[in-house]
Amino acid sequence: MTTPEAGFHQSPVTPASLPGEAAHADLVARLAREIYGQGQALSEPFAPALPASALPSPAPASLAIPGLDGAAFAALVPGGPDLLRRIAQDHPRAASFAEAIAPGFLPAPPAAPSRLAPAAPGAALGAPDYYFLPAEPRSVPVLPVATAFDPERVRKDFPALHQSVNGHRLVWLDNAATTHKPQSVIDATSRFYAHDNSNIHRAAHTLAARATDAFEGGREAVRRFLNARSTDEIVFLRGTTEAINLVANAYGRANFGPGDEIVLSQIEHHANIVPWQMVAQATGATLRVIPVNDRGELLLDQFAALLSGRTKIVAVTQVANALGTVNPIPEIIGLAHAYGVPVLVDAAQSSPHMPLDVQALDADFLVFSGHKVFGPTGIGALYGKKHLLDAMPPWQGGGHMIEDVTFARTVYRGVPEKFEAGTPDIGGAVGLGAALDYLQGVGLPAIAAYEHGLLDYAQGGLAEIRGLRLIGTAHHKASVMSFVIEGQENAAIAQHLDRHGIAVRAGHHCALPALRRFGVSESVRASLAFYNTREDVDVFLAALRTLPRR
Ligand code: PMP
Repeated sequence: MTTPEAGFHQSPVTPASLPGEAAHADLVARLAREIYGQGQALSEPFAPALPASALPSPAPASLAIPGLDGAAFAALVPGGPDLLRRIAQDHPRAASFAEAIAPGFLPAPPAAPSRLAPAAPGAALGAPDYYFLPAEPRSVPVLPVATAFDPERVRKDFPALHQSVNGHRLVWLDNAATTHKPQSVIDATSRFYAHDNSNIHRAAHTLAARATDAFEGGREAVRRFLNARSTDEIVFLRGTTEAINLVANAYGRANFGPGDEIVLSQIEHHANIVPWQMVAQATGATLRVIPVNDRGELLLDQFAALLSGRTKIVAVTQVANALGTVNPIPEIIGLAHAYGVPVLVDAAQSSPHMPLDVQALDADFLVFSGHKVFGPTGIGALYGKKHLLDAMPPWQGGGHMIEDVTFARTVYRGVPEKFEAGTPDIGGAVGLGAALDYLQGVGLPAIAAYEHGLLDYAQGGLAEIRGLRLIGTAHHKASVMSFVIEGQENAAIAQHLDRHGIAVRAGHHCALPALRRFGVSESVRASLAFYNTREDVDVFLAALRTLPRR
């Protein structure tokens, strides 16, 4: 057992002090107090396990707790290992914490084809315990794991951030709409067009082979990012919208009929409402909606009550784009699967902010867009369990998705080509692969922890702006601050901020039902990414304080 750091509380948490099941929440709170010595109480055993703001900076190198070892924890606390896994899943920064107090209880890292390399010694709390090296050498270098998350260091990688707008340093707080691209993505894309450009698969020449390798390398990067079992489960599409349309049409039209039900939540993006509505109209199915409370959190008991033998699919977002709510996807999937109902996870807003693992989640479908994960526009991906994709008919027909064509009939190829009719966005797939490599190099657990602290800081500042009402105050939130200010037009607020070089969005954010739940049809939305800093937030808050009174 390693030596505790200075300031580390020595009072032992002994197995005898853990009376059993009922002590879980107390135990976690106590461990947090033992480690951080801040009297930090945790409101729930799982969800917001360790607010990043409660963590010391720099983080202690060792979190070992005298008097508590993993085996004792497992033996004496029923559900102990499960508890730790859940904490680790729900709050990535807690992963190191959980691993430190009970080594060996976290899920094993995914196996081959990746080679695992150990994290740098002394890696900060929140940095991943391991990272992936590609199975094959790729043209895009994998960045070394950061020993501590440094926003100033990553900002240097994003050329678009270093410009002035209206005479001010650009402060980009429109990340929920789209993100900027690191130089490695720009380079990978331009290298593809400058050097390897060709259509894929069809021609037997050198550039076709290179382009095919580059395209399929992008697919492998997506597989690795999502921890899918196979690249056969990854379909390249234009983005989240097209991916949901594919599932709604290919899966929905084959499986839905009159009286069947499609369950969505009240806080979905229009992209996760309209395609289902269209397929419902075509098949006679109906939409059922999971309501939210006044903080914008899904009411899980009402969700459970909606499920029945009629339910044919559940489609929910992991992070709500207008409110920032992080939905409890593991619980949602667990409940739906108890009824044998597949779940589509809209990861458009979660993918830039938290680690994803389709196998750990047991997601049936998961969709995301390249442009929100620091990659190009016009490319995104659908993950689908292979047996579901295999059973689905193609949606669009054309070249590349066929084995054989006669005027009498067509024989389709297998997955994923069956769903990729026509020439795909080859350069986009290359850029997306580079973006995902970049994100994994920086480390999503570290990103999640950093952004959590930044969001707390920004929301604390917003609470002091007179007349400002934050819409979406979930306990578990990511990245998004939606608000209105009494007596101010939303568009006028956005224009005022733009005059100060600050980019935010004003409007309905393609989530009208979500906003209407809170009595508005528009808001101002500021949204963070890991390249935003406290200085960005300070500039934003200062500009809000100078809004002309109307
Ligand atoms: N779902 C969510 C939650 C989103 O935030 C968005 C984009 N704003 C979409 C779906 C649609 O993504 P895209 O426009 O990239 O297809």
